[in-house]
Amino acid sequence: MQNIDWASLGFSYMDTHCHIRYVWRDGVWSEGELVKEPYLKMHIAASCLHYGQEAFEGLKAFRCKDGKVRIFRPHANGERLIGSARRTCMAPVPVDMFVDAVKRAVKANEDFMPPYGTGGSMYIRPLLLGTGPQIGVAPANEYTFLVMVMPVGPYYKGGLKPVRALVVDEYDRAAPHGTGDIKIGGNYAASLYAHEEAKRAGYPVELYLDAKTRTFIEEFATSNFIGITKDGTYVTPDSHSVLPSVTNDTLKQIAADLGMKVEVRPVPFDEVKEFAEVAACGTAVVVTPICEITRGDTVITTGDPDGCGPVLQKLYDTVQGIQYGRLPDTHGWCVEV
Ligand SMILES: *Cc1c(COP(=O)(O)O)cnc(C)c1O
Repeated sequence: MQNIDWASLGFSYMDTHCHIRYVWRDGVWSEGELVKEPYLKMHIAASCLHYGQEAFEGLKAFRCKDGKVRIFRPHANGERLIGSARRTCMAPVPVDMFVDAVKRAVKANEDFMPPYGTGGSMYIRPLLLGTGPQIGVAPANEYTFLVMVMPVGPYYKGGLKPVRALVVDEYDRAAPHGTGDIKIGGNYAASLYAHEEAKRAGYPVELYLDAKTRTFIEEFATSNFIGITKDGTYVTPDSHSVLPSVTNDTLKQIAADLGMKVEVRPVPFDEVKEFAEVAACGTAVVVTPICEITRGDTVITTGDPDGCGPVLQKLYDTVQGIQYGRLPDTHGWCVEV
């Protein structure tokens, strides 16, 4: 076990023993090797550097109540990465290879795994890059796939803390037929400026509306939008430019299991004031309650500023219960390492 102060762990990069790395050349992936050095030597003309031919994933492994380590829904992330690879003309990583890579990276760094009860987990970051030299615009002839891991703390020490969100009206993250639905670095580069601006203005998260009409809700910069209606229906936007979040998919299923109605449909921004609870959702935090949404001069209250609403809290507790092995995994989401 590493000498880490688990209680003060946040969400930031930390060196571990190694990452796992694969290279694709002439149509085949290498076997994958554990690499100690956290550096990648690549050609200065690599397509990822010049033309952003790159995609990534984010998922977590947990030390469960029974002492075992389990990865949460790695197949879903593997399938999503195939979609990202297709849209950016990269060599796809077969799902079996993806899951195996994640397992091997977690296993090799098991002593960095936060113990059960600390609220921590192992964040897993798979990365797919065009590493072949390419100056004319075309797909690269070489790809690198790697998986790094790092221990992270509970995002919210002492309960879910609601935050204020800002609607971004000056910039778009994704166009109607753009790349909003795949997980690529380019989308993050495109939204970083607005993110910094929102942060300076005192808003930790930004909400994007549809780029064409600015009337429908899309998602937050790095997480999906969920609204809970006053009669307890789970509502989340249906849009081609929203990233299909695994967390959202999980929460939808749990909501349905709990007997809630689930609606995936266009959500007009005007509906925001009608919701009883609003949240952002993603792997890093699971659920971030949103207590207020500001658009220009208008401030809309969307929840209690002092705590999470009861429906979101229940959904959150259920996901975490499954992830840490306190509740039965009826959907077969957890993969043992
Ligand atoms: C990664 C990501 C999410 C959250 O997806 P999860 O699979 O739940 O972690 C949401 N929106 C965007 C834009 C993302 O990149």
